[in-house]
Amino acid sequence: MIIDGKQAAQQLRNNLAEKVQALKSASGITPGLTVVLVGDDPASQVYVRNKAKQTQEVGMISNEIRLPECTSQQELLTQLESLNKDSQVHGILVQLPLPAHIDEAAIIAKIIPEKDVDGFHAMNSGRLLNGEAGALIPCTPQGCVLLAKRHLGDDLSGKHAVIIGRSNIVGKPVSILFLQENCTVTIAHSRTVDLPAVCRQADILVAAVGRPEMVKAEWVKPGATVIDVGINRVVAADGKGRLVGDVDFKGVETVAGAITPVPGGVGPMTIACLLKNTLTAARNSCSLKLS
Ligand code: NAD
Repeated sequence: MIIDGKQAAQQLRNNLAEKVQALKSASGITPGLTVVLVGDDPASQVYVRNKAKQTQEVGMISNEIRLPECTSQQELLTQLESLNKDSQVHGILVQLPLPAHIDEAAIIAKIIPEKDVDGFHAMNSGRLLNGEAGALIPCTPQGCVLLAKRHLGDDLSGKHAVIIGRSNIVGKPVSILFLQENCTVTIAHSRTVDLPAVCRQADILVAAVGRPEMVKAEWVKPGATVIDVGINRVVAADGKGRLVGDVDFKGVETVAGAITPVPGGVGPMTIACLLKNTLTAARNSCSLKLS
């Protein structure tokens, strides 16, 4: 079975649009997301455009701040300081990667945790690790869990989740989320010995590596749920560029119980979860707890 991320994201956005309306009626607050883009990386421009469009579609206010490549770290910090203070802005996202002369860690630390809708601030990672309520949780990991549940149902307890990758953006937080779902979690990475054998133990296999089609059919236990986070641009035999995941989709599809495609799997869910975080941040700003 193919897990349709586009459809799942559309359903989540429909649900969010209703909640945005409810918040507006109850409090007069319209959630606002501001995306800051430094430089003119073409892929980042596409991401930012998609985010803006979908933000507006769910009834939120979308703002974009575009800064030139030569923007200094101090200028960006000053910009974030004013967004931190702006009560119309509930979520701030600085599009990564940043130009090499800007220290990403310093920028992430500058956004106040309440508006950190990427969930990358140490306060939000700490809250996630401690299982505290109120954390803004990184978007791609949230999307991975929601997609796994789409196939397996809400109760993931006892499942063995193997995560390949240990980045702060995907691998580590997604591991914590599956642990919170009472899974047995194994984190595999570039130094893991006999990665195929580790992967074959997985009921849920998450690939977040950045290596095109690395996970082969022989690595997958029959019936496993495979979540492919990777986005890799490769050049096909006809010379055209195309996107592939970290999983050899054609081979693995024949063995897995369910698999997310690339594109159309985790990617759309990431943006929908960003909107979910923006709604949470807006609700928290007025302490309104709506269902
Ligand atoms: P990263 O480079 O920060 O981390 C990659 C991880 O893979 C590392 O922890 C490393 O230990 C591990 N790794 C590298 N080579 C390995 C190997 N041969 N065997 C086992 N493990 C290995 O990358 P990231 O930011 O976590 O992103 C991973 C992939 O997910 C990339 O393709 C990225 O484009 C994609 N991504 C997609 C989304 C989305 O919305 N779908 C969001 C974020 C990242």
